[in-house]
Amino acid sequence: MKRLYPDHLPVIPDEPCWEDFCVLDVDDKRGQGVLVLRDFSQGSVLFRMNGTLKTEMTLHSLQMGPGLHLDDPYFAGKVLHSCEPNSWLDTETRLFIATRNIAAGELLTMDYDETEDVLFRSFRCCCGSSRCRGTIGGRLVRQPVRRGRRRQSVSAELPAKLYATVMAERQNFADQLATATAS
Ligand SMILES: [Zn+2]
Repeated sequence: MKRLYPDHLPVIPDEPCWEDFCVLDVDDKRGQGVLVLRDFSQGSVLFRMNGTLKTEMTLHSLQMGPGLHLDDPYFAGKVLHSCEPNSWLDTETRLFIATRNIAAGELLTMDYDETEDVLFRSFRCCCGSSRCRGTIGGRLVRQPVRRGRRRQSVSAELPAKLYATVMAERQNFADQLATATAS
């Protein structure tokens, strides 16, 4: 199995699969994100988060408890925020669970206000949800839903475009491998 985590991190059960997810550049505003490559049904386990436990937060850490941060600059730390996310993190088990059915080609999202007391860096949210809270800074400074506010930086077609590119690249790679093996 091709890992999404580097070799210095021990393999754990339910690690994210290369076949199921892809880390990629989404756009200038949001930077990198995680794209889902197959369908998942509501309530199913997406993957277990790996990383290094630290007592201080980093840009890519997720809070597991008071003063306990799991630093993952490789995968789970790249999951983008949404005020209406398609996944949530169970900090007891470190499992990411689908909050609804997820289709191949969607960006994976979570709600940063659910796990973090205070964010490493607060930001203006552009998730496009009608339940968007505007500024995201962590649960201790959680903002109420701003009715009627729908700022969206990522066009609805973008994830589909990214998905098509990723799958084409992988098909290409598989074809080249097949050719190389045949000759
Ligand atoms: Zn939002």
